[in-house]
This record gives sequence, structure tokens and C-alpha cells, in this order.
Amino acid sequence: MKFTELDLKQGILKALKKKGYEDLTPIQEQTFPHVLKGRDLISLAQTGSGKTAACAIPVVQSVDPSLNEIQALILVPTRELALQYVDEIAWIAKETTVSAFAVYGGFSIDIQKSKLNHGVQILVATPGRLIDLLYNSPLRLAEVRYFVLDEADEMLNQGFLTDIEFVFSCMVHEHHTMLFSATMPNEIKHLSKNYLEDPVMVELIADKKAPDSLSHYFQVVQPRHRFEKLVELIEQEKPNQAIMFCSSRNNCDKLYDHLKGKVKSVEQIHGGLDQNKRTSLFRRFKRRDIQYLVATDIASRGLDFSHTTHIFNYDLPQNPEAYTHRTGRTARMGREGKAITFVMDRDMRKLNVILRANRIKPQWIGDEPDLSKAPRGGGGRRPSGPRGGGKRKNFRRKPKSSR
Ligand code: AMP
Repeated sequence: MKFTELDLKQGILKALKKKGYEDLTPIQEQTFPHVLKGRDLISLAQTGSGKTAACAIPVVQSVDPSLNEIQALILVPTRELALQYVDEIAWIAKETTVSAFAVYGGFSIDIQKSKLNHGVQILVATPGRLIDLLYNSPLRLAEVRYFVLDEADEMLNQGFLTDIEFVFSCMVHEHHTMLFSATMPNEIKHLSKNYLEDPVMVELIADKKAPDSLSHYFQVVQPRHRFEKLVELIEQEKPNQAIMFCSSRNNCDKLYDHLKGKVKSVEQIHGGLDQNKRTSLFRRFKRRDIQYLVATDIASRGLDFSHTTHIFNYDLPQNPEAYTHRTGRTARMGREGKAITFVMDRDMRKLNVILRANRIKPQWIGDEPDLSKAPRGGGGRRPSGPRGGGKRKNFRRKPKSSR
């Protein structure tokens, strides 16, 4: 279906045309009719499916430009997602007079209050900052007609259930709720039962398989050779843009320090940086002013870096979900992408879990380990006590001939 077939405001159609959006993505096709009719909605959709616009376009369409009050409230789990969301709304609304703004922690609340005093029609917020503002400013939600919870499962993982329930309790008037989530844990069922009215369910994650345009490479490395392997791969692959994921700030620092001496355009991002720095890094990476980004999982969830061609898992992700989120930063909207994951001997159990849960058929750079010999237990934890506490054995590699 084409956007021009929908009865959208001329300003929105103009902006979509400028951006080169012609056809609706499947999630947009399935959610638009319900949202425009004002039905409550639960959508299980992967990031990269166009779910931001699936919500942002109908919201911009439905805002009354003559009413200078918050008419749509969008809750997201992180500051970076708030910025990404508000950027997307801003360009969709560019040819209209609809105003959007994002509030999040780590940034002056007074500046945010004064912007809100001038009137904002679409507010994107992280839960903590929104609650602060509800307690400490005359923020009015009485005109909110659309309430959106994006990455709802992640917000609940971060312990925001009570805050979200509080926000629901502030909106006693009639409104429509749209809940986007990658999974459907019990708390989401609970929220939906208590706060949504006869919601339509749009499920686009029937198969959790990663997109076909994403190839999964793995390489067994010894810790002391890992950095030189990475540099070798960068030289071979010549990524257009790449993110190197590490499991901690400390590892991020170390890799960044080493990499600075080897490649030109590299920056690092992790939760220890102040918010202004993080925001500017994300924007610069999105604009392709930065080629390589060394990052913790802070950069792994939901963010849309469309030009990223390579993901390097310098440290193995903690679990299958983290692998999906990290590698989901590439191969977006059908583009090609390559994920290259370094594995050390001690990682084999976790690797088995990741491969099985995500149904990945790995391609190996260098020797292929014999994974049938690796422990297959869930959770990725090494057993403790007498059986697991002994000296670690190296995994035997399969002989080359058997590959
Ligand atoms: P999201 O899942 O919201 O992160 O979106 C993934 C990417 O798809 C973003 O770069 C969007 O700008 C892009 N996108 C969303 N909808 C469309 C569309 N209808 N046509 C082309 N690109 C789109």
C-alpha cells in the first residue's frame, strides 16, 4: 500500500515524499487503520520494522494544531530512543505546525520546563523524567488523546512498572493507548488487561529468526590476539560504518584507546559519558560523521543506524536477546549487514545458547570449534563447584577437513 492512498494531511505526505517513503512497511499497513480509527493496540514488532513511523505518522495526523496542549504522550525506555523518536516526529511534522519535544534525565529540567510552558503538542519522555515533571511542574496531561508505550518490555525490565501505572492513573479521561513491545511478558499482559480497552493485537514476530540480509560470522580468538584480529578484519572488510560492542565501560575504554591509534574516525559511547556528549555522538554517528563506534549495550537497543554495515561483538553478548539487539543495528529495512563475533574458549556454552535460541547457522572465520563438545545448558552460566571449578579446558577445534 502507498502513503498517497491514505487520507493523510498534505504536509505529512509532502514530508514523506521528501524522505523517500512511498510504501508502508508491513507493520504500518497492519497498524494504521486501527490507530486512525482510534482503537487501542498492542503491537509485537521487531525494531527495524518501521514501528516508530507506524506510530508517529498517525499521531501527527491526529493532533489538532490549533490546541496548544500535550495531545500525544510517548514513553520510551532510554534517552537515546527519546531523541530518535522526537527526530522522526519532527521530520514527519516538518511541513505542519505540530510541535514535538523530548524530555529525559541527565539534561536541565528547568530548560525542559520552560519549553513545556511554551506549549508542546507531542511529548516524548523517559518515565523517570516524566514523573519528576508531573510532581514538580504544572505539566497537564488532560488533553492527551494518544498514549504510546514504546519498547514496553524494556521499560518493565528496567523496573518502570509502577511509574507507568502512575502515568496511566494521571489520564482518567478518554484516550487511546498503543503499546509496542518485542516480547509479551506477564507484566505486559497485566498492563493491557488493566489499562487498555479491547486492544487489537498486531503480531509481526511470528518467527524470531534474524533477517536474511544479516550474515553471522564468528571467529575463535585467544584473548591476546583479539585486538590484532579486529584490526585485520577492519582492513579486510572496510566497513562503511561499524559498531564494536564491549561488555563493560572498562573494556570499551581499553578498546577505544587501542583503536584510536589504528583507525581515523573512531569514538566511544557508554553510560559513563554525560548526556550531552552521548546525544552528540549518536547524532554524529547517525549522520555518518563517525565511522567506528566502540560501545556498550547502551547502543544496542532500538536505535536506528541505517548505514551501519558491520557489527563486531568484541565481547560476546550476555544472552540471545542481547545478540539480537546488538546485531539488529545493521541489516535494517532489508539492507545487507554483517555481524562478526569473537568467541573465546570460555564462551562456548553461552555461544551455544545464543546460536540455538536465535536459530543462527554460523559461518566461521578461521577454525571452526566443535560445538557438539561444548556444554549446551541454558543461561550461559558456567557451573560452579567441583565440576565447573576445575581448570578450564580448551575446546578442541574440528580438523579442517571436516568443515
Ligand atoms: P524503526 O523500526 O522505526 O527503527 O525504523 C527502521 C527504519 O525504517 C528507519 O530508518 C525508518 O526511517 C525507516 N522507515 C520507516 N518506515 C519506512 C517506510 N515506509 N519506507 C521506507 N523507510 C521506512
